[in-house]
Amino acid sequence: MIKLPPQPFKVTEVDETHPLVVNALRDRKHFELCWCGSGKKYKKCHRLREQETPCPLGQILSLQQKIFWQKRGCMHPQASPTTCNGRVIDSHTIQRKGPLERIVDETGHVMHFQSNSTDGELGVSKTGWRKASVFPGYCAGHDSSLFSQLEREPFTGEHRQCVLQAFRNVCNELYRKQALIEVLKFQRHLMDRGRNLDEQINTQISYAKSIKGQIKSVEELERLRVSYESAIIQNELETFVSKCYFFRGDLDVVSSSVFQCEFDFVGNKLVDMWDLSIDAESLSHSVMNTDEGGAIVFVWLRSENAPNAVVTSFDNLPDEEKGDIFVQYCFLNCENTFFAERWWKGLSTENRDQVQCFANTFFYEGGEFVSNKDRLVNWSFN
Ligand SMILES: [Zn+2]
Ligand SMILES: [Zn+2]
Repeated sequence: MIKLPPQPFKVTEVDETHPLVVNALRDRKHFELCWCGSGKKYKKCHRLREQETPCPLGQILSLQQKIFWQKRGCMHPQASPTTCNGRVIDSHTIQRKGPLERIVDETGHVMHFQSNSTDGELGVSKTGWRKASVFPGYCAGHDSSLFSQLEREPFTGEHRQCVLQAFRNVCNELYRKQALIEVLKFQRHLMDRGRNLDEQINTQISYAKSIKGQIKSVEELERLRVSYESAIIQNELETFVSKCYFFRGDLDVVSSSVFQCEFDFVGNKLVDMWDLSIDAESLSHSVMNTDEGGAIVFVWLRSENAPNAVVTSFDNLPDEEKGDIFVQYCFLNCENTFFAERWWKGLSTENRDQVQCFANTFFYEGGEFVSNKDRLVNWSFN
């Protein structure tokens, strides 16, 4: 269901003066706290790590899926036993009676990329459409009070609809990041089993760095969630900008998410995501359905510059390349991307290889998108 890397996010160059390295290399009593920072006694943590049996990747992946999807209670700020109504339900980030309906096959399935249990690579997989693009974020009562307008009304491009959709993307991303931190904390003590001390130190430093980065991005997303929530409640929607690009054509690929503006559509780097002293700015994107085809919808905070730069770079793309490049961007960046089986089967081998490769890229390092001669989608924007 999610692009969970079987390795920490980024392999870090280890400096020997790093406090964790110095601490790990000195002699240590069995009952002292472990060097890795787990808070456990050394004898119960890393003392015999090298002799431990490595955990098979398939088992790690299935355990982390379990952790990821466990219910964490209703995310609504007023959530309590008296205000919540019903159990926490699976909220759709892509509407059931909207975009998802366009890509479902006759057996009720849609396609997406999912990790296989042998090597963690992402491969094409089918899933029932009721399970596609969901997250267990809200009780039934709060889900309906916040988002029912999205499921009830056809998409027209009205600003309020765009902001509500973006708000749901923010909640989904927040849920995923919180779950990801739990997964990383769990994973860091399985990945270095049976490894020598040097490898253990590298693994632990790398995880510590990733977790720190994720905690920061959860804090940023939480602030963004609060901005959306208060704007929606107080009807101050001008805090946000929305921009819709309507197109005609077959809605074969749908995608919905919010992420930090690291690069624009021509590959310019806007911010260094590994510099934790800088606050990231985020852009929401969604693909919506209309009678003629669909729309790509961007929403961002009016006060922020980076998202504006990303959308301007999209605007500047030639109309005939917009659909192709946007779909590349989705597969590269967004695991919440689903597609029709008929579309996948109809792609050329070359295009299929490209999509497969983008879906398996965990760190996009920039570089201009180049549109395919043989377009991925037939979306016409003029
Ligand atoms: Zn330890
Ligand atoms: Zn609730």
